[in-house]
Amino acid sequence: MSWHQAFYQHISERYRLGSLPHAVLVYGEEGIGKAQAVNNVAQSLLCQRVVGAEACGECQPCQLYQGFNHPNFTRLAPEKNDEKKTQSPIKIDQIRDLSSKLVMTSQYEGPNIAVIEQADMMNHFAANSLLKTLEEPTSNTIIFLITSQLSKLLPTIRSRCQSYSLKKASADEAIEWLKEQQLDASDKEYLQALQIAGGAPLTALAILENDVIAQRLSLIESILSLLNNQSTIAQVVELTLKMDFLQSLSFVQNFLADVIRLHQTADKMSIVNVDLAKFIKQLSAKVTPRDAYLLLDELNTMLKNYNASINTQLMLESFFASWHNMLTNNTKTA
Ligand SMILES: [Zn+2]
Repeated sequence: MSWHQAFYQHISERYRLGSLPHAVLVYGEEGIGKAQAVNNVAQSLLCQRVVGAEACGECQPCQLYQGFNHPNFTRLAPEKNDEKKTQSPIKIDQIRDLSSKLVMTSQYEGPNIAVIEQADMMNHFAANSLLKTLEEPTSNTIIFLITSQLSKLLPTIRSRCQSYSLKKASADEAIEWLKEQQLDASDKEYLQALQIAGGAPLTALAILENDVIAQRLSLIESILSLLNNQSTIAQVVELTLKMDFLQSLSFVQNFLADVIRLHQTADKMSIVNVDLAKFIKQLSAKVTPRDAYLLLDELNTMLKNYNASINTQLMLESFFASWHNMLTNNTKTA
């Protein structure tokens, strides 16, 4: 990931100089490869034959790391709940296990490293338990916390970490990286996926791998047929729940933003989701800019309040009911 080179260099240099803090908070937009960057850095800190910031991939620590077996490395992430496409929070027991592992004397030379991915998914008890570990660090221990939702982390946790913001890839860097992933895709498909992903390379990769472009299209089609009374709220909700929850809502968010853009500029060229232009035009003919803003506000509030314990089905039913009511009211007044 060429766009994270500066981060690799910086962390490995500070480690060599003995000035790397024991808690490092890495944040940045979703889908730019934060977890991969941190895990790469962690491996390079464990590697015995590291060159610059690059792990050799061959020494014993590297092999243990690659086999998910390095005793000085722990990775924590929310568990994915496959049926609902949502995630469980990181719980206190997981943090306690991690903390007790960090105080054990390491078998290997080098640091004891923990990586907590999506750290914002720690529940209240887990976050407070981690706080204690951050306040009483053991020597040669490094804890990396990763998040795309900085504001959801406790301020007390943030203040005990050194923060690093990871940057987005340029379009060229992203396309070059996507081409290295050996997918069977054309240049046009790479570009389209990257554009749908808002420029985030890992999101673009997931889109290409999981046939998300087709799913996104049927979601938007089904929302529009809801407005024509050709589908039901229950059907739209069912379709949304089959997809990754946050991703599907970001598609709807981008779609609404385009409807507003088209209203404001009356210029088809202002649309970002060009492949959905037909549907964007259809919807903007049906809703006023104010209605579109209200829907977008409701969606943003929903995303802000989203956490692992929320009933996503109820949340979606209420959101799509708002769409439906808005249209019914518009038809009555028309
Ligand atoms: Zn190595």
